[in-house]
Formats: sequence, C-alpha cells, structure tokens
Amino acid sequence: MEPIRIALVGLGKIARDQHVPALAANPDYTLAAIASRNAALGGVPSFPTIEAMLAARVPLDAVSLCTPPHGRFDQARAAIEAGLHVMLEKPPAATLSEATALADLARSRGVVLFATWHSREAAGVAPARAWLAERRIDAVRIAWREDIRRWHPGQDWILEAGGFGVFDPGINALSIATKILPQPLRVEAAAIVVPAGRQGPLAASLTMRAGHVPVSAEFDFLQTGPQTWDIEVDTDAGTLKLSMGGAILHVPGEAPREAPDAEYPSLYRRFADLLDRNESDVDLSPLQLVADAFLIADRTTGDAFEW
Ligand code: NAP
Repeated sequence: MEPIRIALVGLGKIARDQHVPALAANPDYTLAAIASRNAALGGVPSFPTIEAMLAARVPLDAVSLCTPPHGRFDQARAAIEAGLHVMLEKPPAATLSEATALADLARSRGVVLFATWHSREAAGVAPARAWLAERRIDAVRIAWREDIRRWHPGQDWILEAGGFGVFDPGINALSIATKILPQPLRVEAAAIVVPAGRQGPLAASLTMRAGHVPVSAEFDFLQTGPQTWDIEVDTDAGTLKLSMGGAILHVPGEAPREAPDAEYPSLYRRFADLLDRNESDVDLSPLQLVADAFLIADRTTGDAFEW
C-alpha cells in the first residue's frame, strides 16, 4: 500500500518532540508538507499557512493539526473541505460547537476525523480500564500538578481566552478518567483561579460524579519540584493508582507495571487504522467536562503571572 501523504500544521513543541519522530518511524506515512507561520523543516515543502499549502496543490491525503486549539477550527475546516482526512491534537477545538461542527462536516464530506487524546495511549490506561471493569468503584481522586514554566515556556496562548490554562494538561487527566471509568462523568462544582490580567486559570478544583461515585480533581500549573500526574481509584479490591500520566500502573498485590512511552506512535497507528476502515473517532467527553467546569466555576483572581 502507498504511504499516507500527511502534512503537519503548526510546527511547535509537540510537533517537533513527538509528531515528526512518530511519523519518521512509521512506514505507513510520508511527511509530505509543513504549514507553519514561522517554521519550516529541511527537505519538506513548507508553507506559512494551511491555505497556502492547499493552494500549492501538494499531493496530500491527510493533515495533522498541532496548533493551539483556538484557531484550529478554520484550519480543520479548510482541510476537510479540500477532501483531506484530519487528525487533531488535544483539545480538539476551542469550543464544543466547533468540535461538533467539524465532526458533522467530516461526515458529510466522507473524510476521517480523529480527535486524539494522547494520554489515553499511555501504557497503564488500557489495563487499568480492564481491571476496573471487574471491581466496584468507591471513589476517584485526580491530582495533576505541573510547572507551566518548565513544560510550556513562553506559550502565552495557553493563558489567553481559548487557551484552556491549567485545563490544557488537566484535560489529559480527564481523557484518562473518561476512558477507564465505566460510568460517564459529570461536573457538580468547580473553582478556578485566574491570574490578574490573563484569561486562563492557573489552578482548578473539580467536584464530579461518575454515576454515584465521587470524583475529585485538583489541577495546578505552578508546581515546582516533583511533578504529579496521578489518578487513584478506590475499589472493593483496594486502590488502583495510575502515575506519571498513566505510564505506571499500580494495582493492589502486584508489582508496578511500566512500559516505555509510545503514545504518539500509537496515535499514528490508530489514525492509519481509521483511514483503512474509513471511520472517524471523535469523543468529546473530556472537552465537555472542561466546558462544564468553565460554565459553573466559582472564579477568583490570583496574583499576576510572569514567565
Ligand atoms: P507551541 O509550542 O506553541 O506550538 C504551536 C505552534 O502552532 C506554534 O509553534 C505556531 O507555529 C503555531 N501556531 C499557529 N497559530 C498560533 C497561535 N495563534 N498562537 C501560537 N502558535 C500558533 O504549542 P505546543 O506545545 O506544541 O501545543 C500545540 C498543541 O499540542 C496544543 O493543543 C497542546 O495542548 C498540544 N499538546 C502539547 C503538548 C506539550 O507537551 N507541549 C503535549 C501534548 C499535546 P508558527 O508560529 O510557526 O505558526
């Protein structure tokens, strides 16, 4: 089979750290073009915008959007209207109505839309889901605390409107929780702290339920020192813990299970598989929880934030 001719749009941190290497290592793909305002990749036709790339008629089958969520809708729409299959970084769009509209448009144009959740590909997630399916779940605690200055240096967009603030990493935790818990989650209460002069929160607390099970989440973007990306699930057979963003799984009575990071190779394998079957995969449940948290949040203003 001919390789899938794919373009990357938005050649920033995640595109360089993960997408380019994952594509280079997968013979199902050939990286056929780049669209990024300020960046180019040697040996690959590069354009400042997706519109310029489409106008140049570079032969393409698909695009993978690695830009920030706010503004991605127009790029995704342009690609779908050009008949290309589309893979979206998380969060899939800045709003639920944008994400739903893209799913509808993809369906009507007969192209594949893949709204990715890379954290769901972490090694511990599938076995955690399987283990939990056979237990009674009593309570869930999520703690996602990382240092914005270390992981997102200079990314002002993340604290702008539509940038998600601490929900940019927090939505990864919610993508795992919605995958491993058998019942859908709903938000009962939320509190967010937005630094003076910015739009995106640096801290958030969510009180949720999955059926009757209480689920709490604490998100913090100012954690220095050790970083925390943990989910604990109390069950009738003890407490399951996913740590390091889902990479390490602890289940009662067993040694911790760990495997090397393969989230992005796994996403691109899955996209190739979806193309093969001409099927879309658009699960908006993590985005819905973030939207709901913003809808009902008790909002306070915190200290101004400087990089
Ligand atoms: P980034 O380093 O800021 O890169 C995004 C790129 O998109 C920029 O380099 C920029 O390239 C382009 N862009 C287009 N419109 C833009 C705009 N209005 N503002 C800023 N940049 C714009 O961000 P990133 O960390 O790669 O994150 C991109 C997406 O990947 C986000 O949705 C994020 O949640 C997701 N993600 C990030 C990570 C991570 O660890 N950083 C991990 C997983 C997923 P040009 O200036 O050349 O156009």
